[in-house]
Amino acid sequence: MQTTGRLRSQNAKTPSRLHSPGRRQHGYLYRHRTNPQRPKRCPRIPPHQPPLDCPICDRGGECPLQNNTLAYGPSTSRFIEVKRHLPKAYPLSQYVTLDLERCIQCGRCVRFTEEISGDAQLAFRFRGAEMQPSTFQLTDFESKFSGNVIEICPVGALTSARYRFRARPWDLETKPGLCTVTPCGTNIWFDYRGSKFIRINGRTNEAVNEEWTADRCKFGHDFYNDPPASLRQTSE
Ligand code: SF4
Repeated sequence: MQTTGRLRSQNAKTPSRLHSPGRRQHGYLYRHRTNPQRPKRCPRIPPHQPPLDCPICDRGGECPLQNNTLAYGPSTSRFIEVKRHLPKAYPLSQYVTLDLERCIQCGRCVRFTEEISGDAQLAFRFRGAEMQPSTFQLTDFESKFSGNVIEICPVGALTSARYRFRARPWDLETKPGLCTVTPCGTNIWFDYRGSKFIRINGRTNEAVNEEWTADRCKFGHDFYNDPPASLRQTSE
């Protein structure tokens, strides 16, 4: 309320900086829904990190950012500045790959390691536009639950090293299942294409695993794609 009052009193004397033609041209203001001439007092910060990677991003087809852009975004980008260029496909661990250009600095992955897995493996380095998630001292992301950050990352910044470029979400069929590797009966979604097992995602069951999976469960089912031992012996 105080901020609104201050802006109002400023506007009575001099135009707010937000009303300068340059700012308006770059779309820093939300437009009022019924009266486009009346801008709301709400600065809009154009996201300058995410590149237009949708066609080549593993998250394409199941990305909240892509869905929101499709539903509410303009048909063309209003961002005219040069986007940042940062390392792509940086291996955080043997399971998790980080694409720094796509990170929108939401902090979900950092909060997961602090509040859910409890190992506090990830933290933000640097500040402002340069802020990026990483491990302390750039060591490997060693967590028994690291695969969950792939699922909770709202963009394609954290992707699975095993799943990368193996399939698109619309290629996959999915079935509910139970993990057969860990003894706790983790509830999972079992994604497959044709006769090939592709990936495992957590399935919510508040009484058992909530919505999380251990790495042993998430990445421990590759043996499904091995031919049965009897067939292997025959071919040898
Ligand atoms: S969850 Fe994804 S977008 Fe959010 S801070 Fe982590 S890497 Fe960046």
